[in-house]
Amino acid sequence: MTTITNTTAIVTPAQIALCERVVDATTGQAFYIVKSEHYDENYTEYTVKAIKIAGRYWTTCTCPAGLKGVACKHKIWAAAAAQVHKTQAKVEAMTSTPVATNVDSATLAVLCQEGLPN
Ligand SMILES: [Zn+2]
Repeated sequence: MTTITNTTAIVTPAQIALCERVVDATTGQAFYIVKSEHYDENYTEYTVKAIKIAGRYWTTCTCPAGLKGVACKHKIWAAAAAQVHKTQAKVEAMTSTPVATNVDSATLAVLCQEGLPN
């Protein structure tokens, strides 16, 4: 699955927009509902999930190719969307952190080195 890193570079924002992040209320696990690229009266929606087996993540997709275990475009798009989500969450966490107004330069240096608390 190392190809995912290489292929995310060619995933367009429009394709990422076809992925909707959903959190399973019972398990708390996030998965993606990915719309098909082509509109045919309605979008076909596929479910992309990541499952952890023996410490490794595997993605599943409900499209015909995905059901055969093929690394279909939906899995690639969802992986890219997940990456975007993680980055956005990180930025939001950083920007919503209250900014201390009276920090001396030594403390600031430590904060910069250690990063902001999560
Ligand atoms: Zn698929």
